[in-house]
Amino acid sequence: MELLEKIRILADSAKYDVSCSSSGSSRSAVPGGVGNAAAAGICHSFTSDGRCISLLKILMTNYCIYDCAYCQNRISNDVERAAFEPEELVQLTMGFYRRNYIEGLFLSSGVIMSPDHTMERMIRIIKTLRQRERFNGYIHIKLIPGASPHLIHEAGLYADRVSVNIELPEEESYKSITPQKNRIEILKPMKQIATNILANNEERRILHRTEDFVPAGQSTQLIIGATPASDGKILSLSQNLYQSFQLKRVYYSAYVPVSTHALMPKLSHPPLLREHRIYQADWLLRFYRFSAEELLSEGENFDMNVDPKTQWALSNMALFPMEINRVSYEMLLRIPGIGLTSAKRILRARKLSPITYDGLKKMGAVISRAKHFILISGKYYGNFSLRPDLIYEAISEKKDQIQMNLFGEIDESLGLHGSEENRVFTDKEKIKKLLLEKTIIKNSLAGGL
Ligand code: SF4
Repeated sequence: MELLEKIRILADSAKYDVSCSSSGSSRSAVPGGVGNAAAAGICHSFTSDGRCISLLKILMTNYCIYDCAYCQNRISNDVERAAFEPEELVQLTMGFYRRNYIEGLFLSSGVIMSPDHTMERMIRIIKTLRQRERFNGYIHIKLIPGASPHLIHEAGLYADRVSVNIELPEEESYKSITPQKNRIEILKPMKQIATNILANNEERRILHRTEDFVPAGQSTQLIIGATPASDGKILSLSQNLYQSFQLKRVYYSAYVPVSTHALMPKLSHPPLLREHRIYQADWLLRFYRFSAEELLSEGENFDMNVDPKTQWALSNMALFPMEINRVSYEMLLRIPGIGLTSAKRILRARKLSPITYDGLKKMGAVISRAKHFILISGKYYGNFSLRPDLIYEAISEKKDQIQMNLFGEIDESLGLHGSEENRVFTDKEKIKKLLLEKTIIKNSLAGGL
């Protein structure tokens, strides 16, 4: 099969994996080497000025001996198949990199023959890139559950980031939906990587020179809407993963109904708004000191009309209104409309003089939301006498007009605009992103290899 044909099939097959962003690695260029993981390596991500920077996101093969019902590459599905030889992918990556089409590689694969056989071939690719080609760009590799520990470790020596996708939020679903996989097999490499990263950090503290081991950490992906798992269940799983395996990110992927498998739900479109709410809640876990249990019980789902922080506040109105001039930093973070930056600004400013209504606006708080939950020097500026039902009506977002308020607050506070690692795409952006992915490959091919 022609190389171009393989690229067409295997780049297309890789597109449903969202856990491929690349920040976190800071290795810079070396003399005589090629590439720089610090400068780029982000998988089709948008910068604040709208530029798209790219990662070659591709499967080594879409042949697979497994039969995961949600996956278009499952053995029982009738799709075009292709496989790269390791050397082909090395040449392809270097060719694209030298032509400035990509800044790094995201490598995944179906399972051929066995997990060990697949992992060995994938390692051969990234090892050759690092050692023979002296490729110094970003590499993210998928680990194959069931592969031997020594191979998992070896992959970690050449990759910037590794990931094992959990995919299904509930353990019970594995048996029917993905019979050859189970949760224990998936968590094993995750645990090993977490342990090895800690050991590597410790070594670094003691030794002057030590080799890198997965410098950008590990991530995973959960599918939203392919099984009946509630948002509460998903969030609680994410919390456990962050705590137990020090994951950099849990990515959430709205189930795209590409599979006609009888076990999969018949959705008219991917549940993108639900995915968006879960991402917002994930931010609350990681940056706003919320716990999963505070936001939802395991069986509950998020309200699609308000962001999770507002939903929490409306269910806890006894804690409000909070006096903006006295409340602690932890509680400031819990007020809807106040983000990380505005909370810090409030703390700094009120040391000098009491915060005023206009002053609060200037600090970046979303006052139209915050005013229902606060007092400013004893005065309440909300209109609904703290009645949650009326506040809900006033500030709920229309489902088809997803507001990015919470993310605006966080992005602004962390200076994260434009990094895929730290943002969630609107429906429109997702479509644009898919189109751009296609255009990049098309343009790359038109430029010749
Ligand atoms: S193992 Fe991976 S590639 Fe194979 S069917 Fe399952 S999800 Fe798809």
